[in-house]
Amino acid sequence: MGSFTVNTIAKLLAIRSRKNYTRKKEVQTLRRNTTQRMAIEQVFKEQERPLGVEEVHAFGRKIVKSLNQATVYRNLKILVHDGWLKRITHPLLGTLYERTGKDHHHHFHCRTCNRAFELPGCVLKENEIAPTGFVVEDHEIYLFGVCPSCGA
Ligand SMILES: [Zn+2]
Ligand SMILES: [Zn+2]
Repeated sequence: MGSFTVNTIAKLLAIRSRKNYTRKKEVQTLRRNTTQRMAIEQVFKEQERPLGVEEVHAFGRKIVKSLNQATVYRNLKILVHDGWLKRITHPLLGTLYERTGKDHHHHFHCRTCNRAFELPGCVLKENEIAPTGFVVEDHEIYLFGVCPSCGA
């Protein structure tokens, strides 16, 4: 009877410590995820231009060393889902991510450093370009050339 009680207590303690361990791990995972997400957000705030997964990864690793590409990809997906980022399709670089909430604008691609930049505003009068009978709903413009840091 005495040993039964001791065993039961031992078992209960084991369960409790396992629970604490699980909780602690969950908290650690959550904290790590938050740190990684914040690092990715910081990258976009600092760069102020559309970025591909590899670029986000490269800049993010300077903030959080342990950041891997799968984590970057997962967090980008979450940030798109949350409406903090949106995907754009670049004709040469494929899928890029940029901050939401910006006015209508276009992009510049530097052929030397292969980076995409944001061009503020738009001068295109789309309804004046389209011939009679065509209803314009949207447009995409990409400019190509050399950026200031490559041209200097
Ligand atoms: Zn450049
Ligand atoms: Zn435009």
